[in-house]
Amino acid sequence: MSDPALAGLPGSAGAHSDGDCDVLIAGAGPAGADLARRLAEAGVSVLLVDSLLDLRRAAFSSAALPWVAVREHGLPDEVVAARWSGWRLLGPGADQRSWMADAAAGPAAEPLGAVLDFGALRQWLAQRAVAAGTGLELGWRALRWQADGDGARTRLRGPGGTERWIRSRWLVDATGQRRALLGEPDRAADPLVSGGGVEWLLQVDPAVWQTWADRLSFLLGSDWVPQGYGWVFPMAPGQLKVGVCRLDDATLQQPALHGLLRRLLQRLDLDQAVVLDRHGGVIRSTIRRREAHQQGPLLGLGDAVSTANLLGGEGIRHALSSSAVLAPLLLQALAGQPASLRTYPRRLRRRLGWRWSLSGRLALRTWLGLDGAAADARLRRLLAGLEASASADDLSTLLFNYRFERYGLRALPYLLGRR
Ligand SMILES: Cc1cc2nc3c(=O)[nH]c(=O)nc-3n(C[C@H](O)[C@H](O)[C@H](O)COP(=O)(O)OP(=O)(O)OC[C@H]3O[C@@H](n4cnc5c(N)ncnc54)[C@H](O)[C@@H]3O)c2cc1C
Repeated sequence: MSDPALAGLPGSAGAHSDGDCDVLIAGAGPAGADLARRLAEAGVSVLLVDSLLDLRRAAFSSAALPWVAVREHGLPDEVVAARWSGWRLLGPGADQRSWMADAAAGPAAEPLGAVLDFGALRQWLAQRAVAAGTGLELGWRALRWQADGDGARTRLRGPGGTERWIRSRWLVDATGQRRALLGEPDRAADPLVSGGGVEWLLQVDPAVWQTWADRLSFLLGSDWVPQGYGWVFPMAPGQLKVGVCRLDDATLQQPALHGLLRRLLQRLDLDQAVVLDRHGGVIRSTIRRREAHQQGPLLGLGDAVSTANLLGGEGIRHALSSSAVLAPLLLQALAGQPASLRTYPRRLRRRLGWRWSLSGRLALRTWLGLDGAAADARLRRLLAGLEASASADDLSTLLFNYRFERYGLRALPYLLGRR
């Protein structure tokens, strides 16, 4: 175990380093670490490996989510960097709109959501898994796997290039959008849609921070980020996360994300701020989520089976939900009922809800189509409609619960590009 903060906890790596285990989980992101904890608490011998040497590094995710998810997954204060209770939308052009949750509800009212410290979240989830008895090995990459009797053998490469095989009854690919073990889904059946994002963590004056605190701010319109959007999220006092992301479009020569981010920082007068960290990442999901979730003893989890939502560019809570769905089924399989796993894709689809595919299709239309004056005008009409009729709560419901039909029937045609 390479992370000193995790050293000394029960169930440390040595217990599993050369032996077999019931379940090997590749990837200690939110999905893999949460599954490891659930299985270990039920007495299963679990080995969790991640190619990162330190789970607090490479914190690529903006990690904004609704407060209901913080409660549902019991996330503690130590992983919550900031709370927010409103929305600000800048653009298209010089337009500005904001929504704040009802101040009359008083200081005791719950916020609408949180921005997490993604590194702290991964660290906390891994610590809980280890405390439950999981073996954790950092700096180990899963390279490939092969069937072995009724289980799997997985080739791992560790720090310094050492390689070894691990045998497990079940193997879980929780390597996120990389899908290191499952591989790519069938292109023809349901192709992957991908998007990229870059984000900088900035240190700013308290007065500047205050202007961005308590809300999520998005920069919308093709003059900010063609085919995507920008954002400014509050982190701990004095810190902001500023980023841009957009869907990939092979038919166009798209401008570089770093250039778009620099321009955005200049326009927001944030280009002189101290940059504490630079990171970025990729989101890739299929729209219909019809890909195989299982290949014999190998199961997919979280982003590896397209639980990242392309419309809002978010997937932490869905990754955690995927482990809540898979854990009981895997326990049944370990108890001799492997057929239970056949219900996994269906149960996960049900958990994500019927609006899931709709939100993916809307993501394609909304983001890929956002490139030019006509699309900006369409967006402006949609936002003006929301400004007139929606509260801050309503916006959260729309963007996090995908309840388009609530307005929807009015907003949908805009989103679908028919007005
Ligand atoms: C720029 C950006 C911004 C985002 N913003 C938000 C947001 O605001 N809110 C939100 O909810 N979601 C956001 N997301 C999405 C969210 O971060 C993911 O959906 C979520 O992290 C998925 O969790 P996961 O556990 O499935 O995968 P991941 O978090 O990707 O974890 C996979 C883990 O596997 C490890 N790994 C990879 N390959 C191997 C290998 N071969 N062997 C061993 N380990 C391996 C990786 O190091 C990683 O730790 C954002 C994503 C990006 C890229």
